[in-house]
Amino acid sequence: MTTLPDLVGEVAGCHRCAELVQSRHTTVPGQFPAGARLLLVGEAPGADEDARGEPFVGRSGRLLDSILAGAGLDRAQVAVANVVKCRPPANRTPRASEVAACRPFLQRQVVLADPDLVVCLGGTATQWFFGRTARLTTLRGKVHAVAGRHLMATYHPSAALRFGPRGEPMRALQEDLVVAAAWLASDAHP
Ligand code: URA
Repeated sequence: MTTLPDLVGEVAGCHRCAELVQSRHTTVPGQFPAGARLLLVGEAPGADEDARGEPFVGRSGRLLDSILAGAGLDRAQVAVANVVKCRPPANRTPRASEVAACRPFLQRQVVLADPDLVVCLGGTATQWFFGRTARLTTLRGKVHAVAGRHLMATYHPSAALRFGPRGEPMRALQEDLVVAAAWLASDAHP
């Protein structure tokens, strides 16, 4: 039976996407603290993540950590992963073929980590979990039960940075992580 640490090695040895293999410095498999009940899923590593091999450690990551803390959630106890495990050149959006090639890794991580709640950060993760036609603007703000999992969708921290402290993405991301924390703390789930 594969374990989460086995997957780290598999991701590191993956050569499915020629362009990403060429441009990456390292792979970014994700962080899965033992017993984490919340899994956050972003799009793909950026430059800082590609340098360190860890998800959300750059500007977006620092914002994410502070919004998590504001919602009473400790990043050290939260699992964090991305749809695609290698940085796309110049931070372009991952191609559909790259999302498809990486799909089995995230599928297996979700099964192995078995979080109570998955929060999708941004459109790429939202479409990965909810389907290609899903829109986070209509889904955000509440927990959805989909195929036996509890899912939320919210804005990506990079959108919150882009639109600034008074923008809708910042407000919504803060609000949605408070909803996620309250849901985890309540008895409204198995
Ligand atoms: N953006 C993402 O989607 N993931 C990261 O790990 C960093 C930035």
